Amino acid sequence: MKKISEVRKIWNYSPEEPINYNPLFDWPIKPVKIFNWMVRRWISISRFLMFILLGFAIYHYLTPSLQTMENFTLDWVLLIFLRNTALLFLIAGSLHLYLHVYKIQGDRFKFLKREMSTNNKLFKFNNQVYDNMFWSIASGVTVWTAYEVLYLTCVANGWVNIVPFTESPIQFFAWILCFPLIRGTHFYFIHRLLHHPFLFKHVHITHHRNVNTGPWSGISMHPIENIIYQSSPLIHFIIPSDPVVVIIHLILVTLNPAFTHSGFEKVMNKETKILDSADFHHQLHHRYYDCNYGNMDVPLDVWLGTHHDGTDQATKNLRMKKRNAVI
Ligand SMILES: [Zn+2]
Ligand SMILES: [Zn+2]
Repeated sequence: MKKISEVRKIWNYSPEEPINYNPLFDWPIKPVKIFNWMVRRWISISRFLMFILLGFAIYHYLTPSLQTMENFTLDWVLLIFLRNTALLFLIAGSLHLYLHVYKIQGDRFKFLKREMSTNNKLFKFNNQVYDNMFWSIASGVTVWTAYEVLYLTCVANGWVNIVPFTESPIQFFAWILCFPLIRGTHFYFIHRLLHHPFLFKHVHITHHRNVNTGPWSGISMHPIENIIYQSSPLIHFIIPSDPVVVIIHLILVTLNPAFTHSGFEKVMNKETKILDSADFHHQLHHRYYDCNYGNMDVPLDVWLGTHHDGTDQATKNLRMKKRNAVI
């Protein structure tokens, strides 16, 4: 579809094509299209593969022994908190330096020309990046650590069932394949809840002050929002899995938003793409609020009438809908 002026006026960069969703839900079924989508988004050398490998490394080399975690003591909990903070610095920090401080790829694939806010009273310390770092660590990493510690203590004490990889590798891979569906569905519904006027005003607003987002905006949220947003790994208390699956689930929830909020659709090294990064779908949510609550893995936005595909027509429809709601 041809873009007309308004899209070009707002965005420094926006994708040529309207936003597309996972073809898994298209009818009639197109197996080749589904296969290509899954490979492109989840199995090719991508950040998701990186997160899976990182999950293994974290559980086997950067987590205290089960024996230590049987008893709840501050020293190992603090160690996990510091490890998670370091991981966030590694991902969000390096993306921020690469894209926004050293500007290695300039404005290429950057959605908005604007820079992160400074001298802005809306943000703590009058600085958007420092504000986002504060909320990401004080709220985001604290909640992440709390969920992780809760799960690991339960595993160490045998209070929760697990299915080790060695016992059922198939189940392990089934979890990996189901992550997009679990996360896409969970995110859509909790996000609709966060847009309830009361929760929006008192809780979700902390995240939404960021219209122009950066890597540190990802889990820069009010603690209540982080508790709700990071709750999808609780599913492993009900359906047993390998603990590595839980670690991967947690880092997908906490570290992946550094990419999706980075403000750049791709991370480039000269002419070569290193990784896909932010998605325009969520960038549109930060700009227009009442659309794109989920992500592209499950087309709930399409099914429930909240989809914005990035075109001028979609912006017009959204405005019309808002006007009718007011009348
Ligand atoms: Zn966001
Ligand atoms: Zn929102």
